[in-house]
Amino acid sequence: MAYNITLIPGDGIGPELTEATKRVLEATGIEFNWDIVDAGVDVIEKYGTPLPEHVIESIRRNKIALKGPITTPVGYGFRSVNVSLRKILDLYACIRPCKSYAGTPTHFNNVDIVVVRENTEDLYAGIEFEKGTREATEIIASIEKLSGAKIRPDSGLSIKPISVTGTQRIVRYAFNYARTNNRRKVTALHKANIMKFSDGLFLSVARDIAKEYPDIEFEDRIIDNMTMQMVKNPAQFDVVACPNLYGDIISDLGAGLVGGLGLAPGANIGDEAALFEPTHGSAPKYKGQNKANPMAQMLSGVMMLHHLNESEAANRLENAIAAVVSEGKRVTYDLLPENKRNQAVGTSQVADAIIEKLG
Ligand code: NAD
Repeated sequence: MAYNITLIPGDGIGPELTEATKRVLEATGIEFNWDIVDAGVDVIEKYGTPLPEHVIESIRRNKIALKGPITTPVGYGFRSVNVSLRKILDLYACIRPCKSYAGTPTHFNNVDIVVVRENTEDLYAGIEFEKGTREATEIIASIEKLSGAKIRPDSGLSIKPISVTGTQRIVRYAFNYARTNNRRKVTALHKANIMKFSDGLFLSVARDIAKEYPDIEFEDRIIDNMTMQMVKNPAQFDVVACPNLYGDIISDLGAGLVGGLGLAPGANIGDEAALFEPTHGSAPKYKGQNKANPMAQMLSGVMMLHHLNESEAANRLENAIAAVVSEGKRVTYDLLPENKRNQAVGTSQVADAIIEKLG
């Protein structure tokens, strides 16, 4: 049986990475019917929006999507397609493994952290009020009336909602993930000492949920302390459950610990659909150069195979990727030390090397 998958190539380096990933996924022997649809700034002229309805419909129909990165131009009139997709499809759990592979030029060889990031709330909820607008002025006046706090009239506002409902489901997801994947510990991240009613709520709900999982160890960390401890001793962390913004930052930090964004995959999962995409963005400066590392996109494909319960194929593909990294002969520039970067191969040659390993 072939799986129906929505494929969004994205822009920048996205089309090259998704093409390479499509090839290695097909080389596992699993069959796919790819429903290829486009989103992003390049389709605005044709559809009047960067996220046409038929793209959402395709994901709703197929329930699974593989997506390349999509550029969000700074200061442009449209919201990020990436954030919109997560919100519209209620893909509330963002799973970002940060795992060391032998052969990568890094300071650590023992990192195996899975960041479970809440994907729909927090400062990413998209509730913002521009400086000087009637709405911003009204909210500033209301806040002063209700709390006595003064906000400078020339302020812009971004609202940070964190709910019991949103926190319960993400923390439960983290604990269930830990159980299913034989993990030992969940660490909750917050800044509850300062933001008592948002991060404080996240922490207290996480503590309650932890009681439902006595077999899994639970601890919490204040986010600033966490960044220091992750850099000093990352092996102490296992599954990390966090609100949206901290999750975004920590997953890039984790990617840096294991050799860079070229090895950092991701999944956005909801009750109705799942979308697999790398942690990194569209790196526009490398567009069309056959230069970027496709492994984060491919490892997102590995996560997709696990989601499809094709774990044997997933493990074979991950092992093939790990073997190519460890040999270090046919890898992109980012996996080589500065003095050996002239020996780097391109995106499609990495796919060739992995396909050879798959046999
Ligand atoms: P980026 O992740 O595109 O690039 C950051 C750095 O990492 C750059 O130096 C880049 O060269 C390098 N890099 C990234 N991916 C790489 C790869 N596969 N191989 C080798 N090197 C790689 O981040 P940015 O420059 O901040 O963002 C560019 C655009 O991507 C922005 O418009 C941003 O909004 C968007 N973005 C999209 C997503 C997504 O689609 N989910 C995620 C993050 C950023």
